[in-house]
Amino acid sequence: MRSGGQTTVIQRILERRAQQPPAIQDDTTATIAVMLRVLPPPRALLAIADSVVRTQIERFISAEVLDFQAAADEREALSLFTAEFRPVVITDSLELIRKLRALQSELVPFIVFVAELDEGQEREVGLAAGADECVGRRSSDRELSARIGVARRIAELEAVLRVTLIENRKLSTTDDLTRVASRRFFSKHFPREVERAARYGRALSLILCDIDFFKNINDTLGHAGGDDILKQFAARLQESLRRGIDWVARIGGEEFAIVLPETGYEQALGVARKLRAGVADRGFSAQSKNVEVTASFGLCGLDRVSAGERKTPEHILKIADAALYRSKHAGRNRVTATILPTPGR
Ligand code: GH3
Ligand code: MG
Ligand code: MG
Repeated sequence: MRSGGQTTVIQRILERRAQQPPAIQDDTTATIAVMLRVLPPPRALLAIADSVVRTQIERFISAEVLDFQAAADEREALSLFTAEFRPVVITDSLELIRKLRALQSELVPFIVFVAELDEGQEREVGLAAGADECVGRRSSDRELSARIGVARRIAELEAVLRVTLIENRKLSTTDDLTRVASRRFFSKHFPREVERAARYGRALSLILCDIDFFKNINDTLGHAGGDDILKQFAARLQESLRRGIDWVARIGGEEFAIVLPETGYEQALGVARKLRAGVADRGFSAQSKNVEVTASFGLCGLDRVSAGERKTPEHILKIADAALYRSKHAGRNRVTATILPTPGR
């Protein structure tokens, strides 16, 4: 009886849930619809030698469907394309298709092949050369317009995807490579930390660090090897910090900020020294090589953040940066620290 009753309850909940609109999916669909509407029509390149066919195709491509440019011949088409990417190419030249595919660029166009005789075999050759769609001279107007519509839709979706990925990266709170906080997160949340410390009159310290001669590391290991070192470096910093209290942000290529809430000057100096030693005392490994890495540190410590100092976050950052600069100039692989005196004390 009892378990039967529970089953009914669970079933009812599941049913109710199934009826609820999938909110996130709806949002996404709506966003994509808006983006598709506001994005300009995809750019297209038309390279059709046969003037009758060209005129026929042009009739279907109004300015709202595709923003197209016609090339005089295959050579011009190729040079226009290499100068500026077009997501759609419509051509009757197999040679152009092969050349475009041979470019192996990161951006890949959607290619519509216009077959001369419009026989099955010819379409096959077009596809084999690298076309995504084939139409023939004898294709009906409806088929032509449908196939051009497909090209347009693919190009648009790709554009939406690209814009979204770029936007997402910009909005990200964590750094893609090192998984520590992003620069964006730092610029938003460091002032909040300062504000919070000021509200309660608490201590706060900021450490900036920059890997020494990182350019040499990149030169020896390659960019991928350098990336590998950056990941290990960020992880190494976090080893010496209090989880869930102190936090690290990547604020530049090989520059990091470490925020130490409720931490006064002396204590922060101890942390900075530990961080420096944690990096320098143990080798890193990348591309199956042991790599020695050092970093320079600059600290700005406040034993008590006073309320009402509006410019404090920028000020702290500036002082930590100047300290870092002094570490670099004094020979690197060291800590320079500045205490910011509490006003009125
Ligand atoms: P210094 O001791 O004065 O700091 O010398 P440095 O060589 O570390 O400083 P510099 O500013 O001359 O060079 C920093 C290099 O970091 C240049 C840049 O190519 C590299 N870099 C920046 N971001 C990245 C990244 O995300 N990955 C890799 N691998 N390298 C990066
Ligand atoms: Mg550096
Ligand atoms: Mg730097």
